[in-house]
Amino acid sequence: MKLLDGKLVAEQIKNEIAREVKEQFIDKGLEPPHLAAVLVGEDPASMTYVSAKEKACREVGFISSVYRYPSNITEEKLFDVIDFLNSDDDINGFIVQVPLPGHIDEHKIIERIDPAKDIDGFHPVNIGKMVLNLPCFLPATPMGIMTLLDRYNIDVEGKNCVVLGRSHTVGTPISIMLSRKSKPGNGTVTLCHSFSQDIQTIASRADILIVAMGKQGFVTADMVKQGAVVVDVGIHRIPSDETKSGFKLKGDVKFDEVAGKCSYITPVPGGVGLMTIVSLLQNTLKAAKKEII
Ligand code: NAP
Repeated sequence: MKLLDGKLVAEQIKNEIAREVKEQFIDKGLEPPHLAAVLVGEDPASMTYVSAKEKACREVGFISSVYRYPSNITEEKLFDVIDFLNSDDDINGFIVQVPLPGHIDEHKIIERIDPAKDIDGFHPVNIGKMVLNLPCFLPATPMGIMTLLDRYNIDVEGKNCVVLGRSHTVGTPISIMLSRKSKPGNGTVTLCHSFSQDIQTIASRADILIVAMGKQGFVTADMVKQGAVVVDVGIHRIPSDETKSGFKLKGDVKFDEVAGKCSYITPVPGGVGLMTIVSLLQNTLKAAKKEII
């Protein structure tokens, strides 16, 4: 068994981005790429995620800014913020951190973002282009998974790929990316959800199993084929006396019992999560280079 080491690959890519920022921007007297984040309310997970993005931006030499608003901000006011970010030429790309408070329609907010600045890749224009295999901003988490598979030279072509979970941000886009006519891609994909029958048997036939269900420890050894590649997207904070933070991170896969059957597996933490942030950096760089319009 080998680890798909998201930490290692994320560091490699961050070094590559930092070099590009220096050579293509700083040394030429240009402003470095600028990523902005809109944070509404004080959801702890969202605050942690936005701080991690700021830290990653600093590490590669990007400018980062965070626009913070109380959870009672109106939808109209948030539209104004997005209109401002869309029109500010100093900002190359931005994200609106989700989840948003219940009185705000997330779809309307995402549709308001200029697709050329939508570095989260959630705008319907970018989703549509992804399906058509046109240049676009890919959603960060599935993009990170594809990068990880690519960097480890994992062959997807013709392989039996099973995706557990069909969220708009992870399961559905990764199922499209794995099946697209591209490299990596050309996989044969089965997408499972809560109406799927006999998930255990379907999963146990997978050469490549992607798990994004939000169900801690759902995937057990009997659901995994010998030699499979397993990617665990799930993140769960489990209270623990053993750590300073008071919690441990666990995934949707029972790592200890599954790892022995895999050719490759992502750890949690240290797998997909770190690749998600790196994908955002890659998308911001593309935005600054005006590669996606
Ligand atoms: P989500 O929006 O809650 O979607 C979960 C999906 O799993 C749904 O499609 C649901 O089916 C399916 N599902 C849930 N229970 C099931 C069951 N018992 N049998 C079959 N299907 C089931 O989740 P998400 O946003 O994709 O997130 C999934 C996990 O990944 C979470 O733990 C989240 O924290 C984590 N995550 C990690 C990253 C990262 O960077 N590492 C990024 C995003 C999310 P239905 O559609 O039928 O309801």
